[in-house]
Amino acid sequence: MRNEINAHQISAHVSDQQSRNGSVCTYVYDLAALAGHVRAVVAALPERCRMFYAMKANSAKPLLQTLAPIVAGFEVASAGELAKARAASPDAPVIMGGPAKTERAIAEALAGGVRRLHVESVLELHRVAAVADRMGRTAEVLLRVNLAGPFPAATLAMAGRPTQFGIEEPALPEALRLARETSRVRVAGFHLHSVSNNLSARAHLAMLAHYRDRVLDWEHRFGLRCEVLNLGGGIGIDYTDPARRFDWAGFTAGLEDLVRRTFPAHWREIDFECGRYLVADCGRYLVEVLDIKRNHGVNYLLVRGGTHHFRLPVSWQHSHPFTVLPVERWDLDAPRPAVRGEPVTVVGELCTPKDVLARDVPLEQVRVGDVLAFQRAGAYGWEISHHDFLSHPHPEQVFFRVSQG
Ligand SMILES: *Cc1c(COP(=O)(O)O)cnc(C)c1O
Repeated sequence: MRNEINAHQISAHVSDQQSRNGSVCTYVYDLAALAGHVRAVVAALPERCRMFYAMKANSAKPLLQTLAPIVAGFEVASAGELAKARAASPDAPVIMGGPAKTERAIAEALAGGVRRLHVESVLELHRVAAVADRMGRTAEVLLRVNLAGPFPAATLAMAGRPTQFGIEEPALPEALRLARETSRVRVAGFHLHSVSNNLSARAHLAMLAHYRDRVLDWEHRFGLRCEVLNLGGGIGIDYTDPARRFDWAGFTAGLEDLVRRTFPAHWREIDFECGRYLVADCGRYLVEVLDIKRNHGVNYLLVRGGTHHFRLPVSWQHSHPFTVLPVERWDLDAPRPAVRGEPVTVVGELCTPKDVLARDVPLEQVRVGDVLAFQRAGAYGWEISHHDFLSHPHPEQVFFRVSQG
């Protein structure tokens, strides 16, 4: 995806914010670029395959409204996300996961028209059946299975090793037995989401082939017919090299072949539920450099903002990529600190040494008053952060709807 917000839009926003607030701290989103990217992603999917948006990556209403007409629906993981999905787009299809669901959340899901629940344990299947029974309903579910792997290297692993997610394979017969005994749940198939941030199309295809083999085996062993298969999300974003991208064209070409040649026809619906890959690129986090200092041989850039707005880099222990937007204006009657041709470490306004956004990044020039634009900040950025630690003002959230560049 190209960076479609043009420099004029950003610099107009920066000078506007500087005159209003004195300093820049803003998430900017490019909704036109988002729509273009996701339209292309969806258009490349083969028959039977559908793309849901896993809204925990970013549940801002303008993003949901932009995505609703393009994706097959929303994947939510709480009643709160369900409410946000409904508020943004009342008729969008919704599917619901989450490792620990209360009876109340299950009841809200069934009452709120959620199409399918992804069930993560045998007890949860009992719970769904009990709630559905009270409501005089039958709940359609997929069983989320925590497979034994092996899985491709990715940043996060949800299966193939001990985690709290899904039903392990040895417990599957018990879940299927229970499902057969109650008319209140209907198992339509399986849900398999095992990794996050996988950057290799080939490895992702190999994982899906492994999923296929397991499901074929269960159909054979347990005498069941899978109709719906949810293959999860987990398509990656390269935070170390912004030029490198997941090979979606290669992936979907391989997927087309895999599905057409090897998925039985009665697997009528193949769902994906991606978060990061859909929205990471459309968001940028802009922060003004408030001070520059050298301590113990390291150049620190201290910015208006930090990990309480953008926890992703500290959560993943990476240096997040950014660019410098030069700002010429300088009003203070004092020399303007700058660093030229040396590495810098970017830290926030929090009183903790953990508040680091990027480390040892070589820069040609940066001055106090310039603005840093952290790229690929649209997924798991604001959404996962501890906003009120230290009670600094929240960033502005600006949504550009039209690209003019
Ligand atoms: C978080 C999550 C997703 C989305 O994962 P991405 O890595 O953002 O694509 C999909 N399914 C489930 C069950 C999840 O928990």
